[in-house]
Amino acid sequence: MDTTADRRWHRIAEALRPETRLLIDGQFRAAADGQTLASVNPATGTVVANIACGNAADIEAACDAAAKRFRQGVWSRMRLRQRVDILTRFSELIAENGAVLAVLDTLEMGKPIAEMGAIDVPGAVLTMRFLAESIDKIAGSAPVTNSDALHYILRQPLGVVGCITPWNYPLMMAVWKVAPALAAGNCVVLKPAEDTSLSALVLGRLFLEAGGPDGVFNVVPGRGAVAGQALARSMHVEKIAFTGSTAIGRQMYRYAADTNLKAVSAELGGKSPQIVLADVEDLSSVAEKIADGLFGNQGEVCSAGSRILVERSIHDEFCDLVAGHAARKYRPGDPLDPETTMGPLVNKTHQGRVLDYIDSARKEGATQVLGGDTADRAAEAACFVAPALFAGVDNRMKIAQEEIFGPVGAIIPHDGVDDAVRIANDSPYGLAAGVWTSNLSAAHRIARDLECGMVWINGYMNGDMSQPWGGWKLSGHGRDKCLQALIDNTQSKSVWVTLD
Ligand code: NAD
Repeated sequence: MDTTADRRWHRIAEALRPETRLLIDGQFRAAADGQTLASVNPATGTVVANIACGNAADIEAACDAAAKRFRQGVWSRMRLRQRVDILTRFSELIAENGAVLAVLDTLEMGKPIAEMGAIDVPGAVLTMRFLAESIDKIAGSAPVTNSDALHYILRQPLGVVGCITPWNYPLMMAVWKVAPALAAGNCVVLKPAEDTSLSALVLGRLFLEAGGPDGVFNVVPGRGAVAGQALARSMHVEKIAFTGSTAIGRQMYRYAADTNLKAVSAELGGKSPQIVLADVEDLSSVAEKIADGLFGNQGEVCSAGSRILVERSIHDEFCDLVAGHAARKYRPGDPLDPETTMGPLVNKTHQGRVLDYIDSARKEGATQVLGGDTADRAAEAACFVAPALFAGVDNRMKIAQEEIFGPVGAIIPHDGVDDAVRIANDSPYGLAAGVWTSNLSAAHRIARDLECGMVWINGYMNGDMSQPWGGWKLSGHGRDKCLQALIDNTQSKSVWVTLD
């Protein structure tokens, strides 16, 4: 084995001196009250950086700057092709700085570096490029009306958009929110998650390097209850684009209701079912893909296929296959090693929460068919949890109803298509679902009847930029990635011209 190659990411990590200050109106600066927030590497327990911790005053300064720049029109009234060029250059700079961005996210949240290279960095680059290219592809309209009038409907930017993001895909979630808001001509204030602020600050610098005007894209790390709340309550902010838990998503609507009735888009939690019918051709290959859809990114994925609904006749065989694949492929290890497929969970609190769910499944009588320990390499300070799989689960159990957001799967037997759909829909969430079958009409019927925003047939979590990403029910209402995301960052204006 070439050990030189294996240490290359550690060397990048050791050489890093990341920006830790807030970015407000084109200037990096300390928090108004000088407070900092320690970012801790969950693989080692060591401090990655002490990051300026913005408070309400910092958020208000950022929102003031963004509102002032919006009124000045430095971005919203910039020539369209120039805006396209700047955002295209921004996407190129994200690609050019991909290694640093990848290492920062891996250090702060524990995601395997190989996943950063395969999913997060290319996903961020593609999203920024797609939205840059989309700027001049949307149109208003001029409906037919009486001959004595002309009616046209414009699409115009909202003003200041506040983006609040989670820690599970720090770079990619930030770009999913920021790219459509900027592309539509808005000014942005981004508040990243407490555990993962560093790649967001790099994004802010790269926007300026790409030629973005000062104050158009501001980044203010800080605590959710303080900085996040101040942003969602700011009277300058016309829309909050939020991705995170359902509990905090609810808060966003309350903040909006209590202040200026700003628009809210909310991408929230999930408990996504994967339905397997007994007629699948290659059970082993399906089991492998189901394990990937469950244990990738340590299961810290909103759309993780964490409820596996398997036809009763193949339940036992299928459990063995998924457990076998998971045990072979998903072993917790050093996330900076390019061979590692599973890193630690994001922090100690979350590790404890996930272990509690594993205990509750045991207490409720589910049959454990795989792992779920704190893993061999669990030093006191590290946050590893090995993949856990439970068979014969009842959909009413806690591990089948609540979002765990960790490497824990529940295999639930079903008795055919109707029963599978009933169980799948018996959930407060409605983000995504998978269907695995050789029966074409059954697949489409199930897709029609599932109560969720996204369905994959004979695959899971694949797709491209045309795919509206978002959920139904308690999984929220926004749509990321697609052209709709751009339109949702604009508002309509009807202009009625009297001709006679
Ligand atoms: P979280 O809700 O705890 O935090 C999300 C963001 O909200 C963070 O920036 C946090 O600082 C901020 N925040 C926390 N309290 C706040 C408050 N009172 N006011 C304002 N802001 C506040 O979520 P998390 O733990 O960071 O992320 C995990 C969750 O995100 C999971 O539920 C997951 O399903 C969800 N998620 C959903 C999607 C999707 O597309 N649907 C994608 C990724 C993650």
